[in-house]
Amino acid sequence: MTNASGPKLHSANPVRPSRDEAEQAVRTLLAWLGDDPSRPGLANTPKRVAASFEERFRGYHEDPAAELARTYEDVSGYADMVLLRDIRLESYCEHHIAPFTGVAHVAYLPNRRVVGLSKLARIVDIFARRLQVQESLTAQIGETIQSGLEPLGVAVLIRATHQCMTLSEVNQPGAVMETSHFTGVFRDEDRWRRRFLDAIGSATPA
Ligand code: ZN
Repeated sequence: MTNASGPKLHSANPVRPSRDEAEQAVRTLLAWLGDDPSRPGLANTPKRVAASFEERFRGYHEDPAAELARTYEDVSGYADMVLLRDIRLESYCEHHIAPFTGVAHVAYLPNRRVVGLSKLARIVDIFARRLQVQESLTAQIGETIQSGLEPLGVAVLIRATHQCMTLSEVNQPGAVMETSHFTGVFRDEDRWRRRFLDAIGSATPA
């Protein structure tokens, strides 16, 4: 694992509960709400919720660094920014397990090596399928690409709306949170950072 700052993988936790225990926890929540978990309409709900959590949070069982294991050096002298824009993002905040959705823009300036574009989207997706806050998600994506690909710089910018902003008393459903993480030339040189920011534009997520 390269993401020392990232969330702990379950393998670091020797007492991972069983699937049955997870389903039982859902039954407990339903009863705590005041409902009857044994009524027919809810009979299969714990099973479905556990399966749904397994899918939404499968990033705990995937290794984002492994996506960068295969790189290409034959790029015919290409030496400009590589940008993947508008990567659809759906994640869950660690404070409320409430969804936040939006887009991620990821760019890097290659240092000879490049990587398949789908890999950048995969890295975003793997981290998104873990609980965290948007700030750490942004940094984890950037640092994983920086350490795995060793480019001259990485730029990551995420714009997302958070459901917990609707649920809580602040009630600001349209508010967009923007976070960015820059390394190398994107951090140190205005012209590269400007280039990235101009390329992605200021459109907010749909
Ligand atoms: Zn939240």
